[in-house]
Amino acid sequence: MAAGIPAGDRGAGEAGSNDAIEALRQAGALEESLTEVDGGAVGVRAEERGWRVLAWAPIGALWPNALAGHSTELRGGTLLTGDPDHGNAAALRGLIPWLRPRLIGEATSAGVGDRLGIATPGHVAAFRANSGVVPVLAQQSARELVRTGRSFRDVVDAATFGALAAGWREGFGADADHLKSIVDIDAGIDAGCKMFTADPIELVPDLPADAPERAIAAAFEAIPWADLEDDAAAFAARYPRRLDLESGPLELPAAGLRAAAARFGAAVVQVAAMYRHLAAALDPGAFEFEVAVDEIEFRTTPVDHVYLATELHRLGVRWVSFAPRFVGEFEKGIDFLGDRAELEADVEVHAAIARHLGNYKLSVHSGSDKFSIYDAVARATRDRVHLKTSGTSYLVALQTVAAADPELMRRVWRVALEAYTTARASYHVSAALADAPSPDAASPAALAGLLDDPNTREILHVTYGAVLHGADVGLGDGLRAAIWARRAEYWANLEVHLGRHLRPFSQAAARSAAKGATR
Ligand SMILES: [Zn+2]
Repeated sequence: MAAGIPAGDRGAGEAGSNDAIEALRQAGALEESLTEVDGGAVGVRAEERGWRVLAWAPIGALWPNALAGHSTELRGGTLLTGDPDHGNAAALRGLIPWLRPRLIGEATSAGVGDRLGIATPGHVAAFRANSGVVPVLAQQSARELVRTGRSFRDVVDAATFGALAAGWREGFGADADHLKSIVDIDAGIDAGCKMFTADPIELVPDLPADAPERAIAAAFEAIPWADLEDDAAAFAARYPRRLDLESGPLELPAAGLRAAAARFGAAVVQVAAMYRHLAAALDPGAFEFEVAVDEIEFRTTPVDHVYLATELHRLGVRWVSFAPRFVGEFEKGIDFLGDRAELEADVEVHAAIARHLGNYKLSVHSGSDKFSIYDAVARATRDRVHLKTSGTSYLVALQTVAAADPELMRRVWRVALEAYTTARASYHVSAALADAPSPDAASPAALAGLLDDPNTREILHVTYGAVLHGADVGLGDGLRAAIWARRAEYWANLEVHLGRHLRPFSQAAARSAAKGATR
């Protein structure tokens, strides 16, 4: 057995020494994965190229029919060995409740991305070590799927096998992230996602705070009032002059509301359409919705936030979390750039608006590696927060490879450099190519150092598509194979790195719980 999964907090009796468990042990199942099912048991085995699904049942039991694979006799029952494919993932979710993506609700939560489909046991280890933060183990944006050639099904299935392998019985969320269309939503529904993040960025005109009045006027003229089930007069009469928030009074000047409507009117229509599509397809209470405007070039003002929340609410949209674009720079894979006090004040106002208008969570996107602000964010949101990280788990994979296989890392770096100019256009990054070391000359130490330098780290962060699914055919598979071969080390590295993200939120949640208990 090769895997280094930490022993779980398995409940008593779940892995007793009956025939099923013994048969699966004999077949090489990971100890943590052993799960009793109706007279038998299931588990997974780690093989040279990936997981193998194992099930053992007494002769004649019907439930193994849900799984596809090869059957043999073992210990007086039937042992089935199957591929880690979508059918078997769906069958496992049918058999084991805690493998089905769940709702997250109001709890402090964090989403982690897994572009290689191997990270989940490492993510689980990080969440185990930092209790009080609910994991969204399956989370990928529509854009990441296109770039990696994967689907929402692949993402949810990889989390399913990973959670089974690690024996994670607390449940996990599945977030179809940055959805831009109804088609995206349907793919998320099909895969069993429970959280849907709508991103209407394409409908938001470029109207930063210093936009000229005529540009705002032109965009205001273009507001689709009929689609908003509204008109300009009703809109103007809807808002109070100010809101008395816990953070202090917030003035709502007519000009500010007009600019907010000019920016987000069309976006509100789009988000409402996406929400209504979901609400028609799924039972109420069977899904959670997030609204994300974090990737817009200009910051979301408090008045913008009030406008969005008011109009979406009026149109019947209900959401658990909202992702504004905060002040300062949230670049991918590196720490926060900007004034931390200003950021904390900004988060505080947005959190106060969220409490005032619906008690939803703030969602902090591009949340990886922002170590200098987590305490402030936990404080300012009073733990009503969802943190999203994604690419940082891919960077940990590269770090793991760079230490063990410099030549593979050199190949990754060559492709990353070539792809950066195109890839950077769709990401919020500032890294320049000028100082980047040449792939041919770089020493193994220099290649490993690429993960430590913010400049080269960003280049690696945004070029994953070219590396995993690009012109260098075989590089993606080579990388996946290399990581799988070193999975114990990869998971240990993830536990450390993601743990640094989760710890401030875990500690804040524990403090809140202690306060609540003494009240
Ligand atoms: Zn985002």
